[in-house]
Amino acid sequence: MNRDILIGGAWPYANYFMHIGHLAALLPGDVIARYYRGNGDNVIYVSGTDSHGTPITGRAKKENVSPEVIAKRYHEAFVKSFGAMDFEYDLYTATFTEEHKKIVQEYFLKLIKNGYIYEKTIQQDYCEKCGKFLSDREIVGKCPKCGGEATGEQCDSCLTTLNADEVQDKHCKECGSETVLRDNKHLYFKLSAFQKQIEDLINSSENTWRKQAVGESRKFLNNGLIDRAATRQLDWGIKIPVEGYEDKRIYVWFEAVLGYLTTAKRVAEQRGIDFEKFMSKDNPNLSTYYVHGKDNIPFHTIIFPALILGIGNGYQLPKYIVSSGYVNMNDTKMSKSKGNLITVDELVEKYDTDSIRYFMISNGPEKKDMNFTEELFAQAHNKFLVGMLGNFVNRNFSFINKKFDGIIKEAEIDEKIVEMTKELFRKVGALIEQAELKSAIDEIFEYIGYANKYYDEKEPWKQCKEDIEEFNKTTYTCAYIIANISNLIAPFMPKTSLKIKKMLNLPEFKWEPITLKGDIKINELELLFNRIEL
Ligand SMILES: [Zn+2]
Ligand SMILES: [Zn+2]
Repeated sequence: MNRDILIGGAWPYANYFMHIGHLAALLPGDVIARYYRGNGDNVIYVSGTDSHGTPITGRAKKENVSPEVIAKRYHEAFVKSFGAMDFEYDLYTATFTEEHKKIVQEYFLKLIKNGYIYEKTIQQDYCEKCGKFLSDREIVGKCPKCGGEATGEQCDSCLTTLNADEVQDKHCKECGSETVLRDNKHLYFKLSAFQKQIEDLINSSENTWRKQAVGESRKFLNNGLIDRAATRQLDWGIKIPVEGYEDKRIYVWFEAVLGYLTTAKRVAEQRGIDFEKFMSKDNPNLSTYYVHGKDNIPFHTIIFPALILGIGNGYQLPKYIVSSGYVNMNDTKMSKSKGNLITVDELVEKYDTDSIRYFMISNGPEKKDMNFTEELFAQAHNKFLVGMLGNFVNRNFSFINKKFDGIIKEAEIDEKIVEMTKELFRKVGALIEQAELKSAIDEIFEYIGYANKYYDEKEPWKQCKEDIEEFNKTTYTCAYIIANISNLIAPFMPKTSLKIKKMLNLPEFKWEPITLKGDIKINELELLFNRIEL
């Protein structure tokens, strides 16, 4: 029976280009999606651009354009970068789409109906002259850290993100009047109501969530969950479907994570799948994966499950939490202000996408932060991709091409290798399902290492003169290994998989061992990887 798989890749924030930190955190989603598709399972893999919130309005202000211009600009850039890295989302959208807004508003009303959203009055900055509450970016004042000019959301000098209540000497940006505090109504989400249920969720998820995610979430729970404002004094975002809240928008923390549901629902509808049944906690065939960087852990392990529980549609709570550490650059933290952020576009311009994908999985921040340097990248590429994988294919096929006109004669395949290959599919498959991708790719390269040793020990260049039958067995067995490598690496390195398949006229990728039949004619031999010289 086919399994139902939902994979939610985190929604990158639309205020900068996709960089290698995004890539390291999000790539596991694409690998897992490709693997399950290769099993014939029913995969819904979704994500989109997070386009609301103050960093975007702040940037828009700086450039003197509307927030929409900023959101769309970076959204398009993300779409391009994901495409360049061969991500295959079933739907990659953005939170500014009408479809997302509509479903979020429905969920919002459902939470009100279920008693998990309530009204609370707090004090906020008001301009008496303009006669209105000021949104964070309509407030100007002094930064509490450097004394520079700041808005209610950010310091323009030291670029610290601020809350309006931290800013000193506040004035209305429009008319310059001093602000006064007045009572303002907001809607709050009763996060505290879910303390016990989230604790139970974490206790039952220790084997399927990454360790870091379990640890981080427990820290939050130990402090006790507190209710959070679900509305914000802003004019950019999703409108609140309640009268009297026209000057506010739904807080971004609330609506962005709901994007997994709003997009998955759209994909399900396009395919004629009953989304309520698909997503149900009573669907025994369903596994959900949420893939993100460690700074996003509590949104996925606490807030999102609490929202699901509050909405009350009986959806499955996150089964697999796939959170990654950070990428450091030459041993220092990456940041825009340090200017040491490498964007995905810069990488793709210089290097093969499959080699980048290989490196980000095999050396990625799965368990701890990773260090990226071009030297480490080149070393891994040269050693594993050129020296092991590329070499195995090339030494086999160039010899056959030179001496035997590219024809590999049908012969008996080494039984031991057949057994080993079958076992490898089982083992690597289980690792990918657990999101242990580094171990999965290491297993595959151990197999390739074994294959090279096998070739060396058999010495086919001698066998072909001394015992042609033994030679045929060796080369047919090696062709069998290469054919199976094309399936094993497909979730990780889709382009390389296709190149191998083209050389041997192999069937489309499926997660299963390939059996060979008859003589094989090698199509034009293509070098899989070139050495990187720094
Ligand atoms: Zn400052
Ligand atoms: Zn004013």
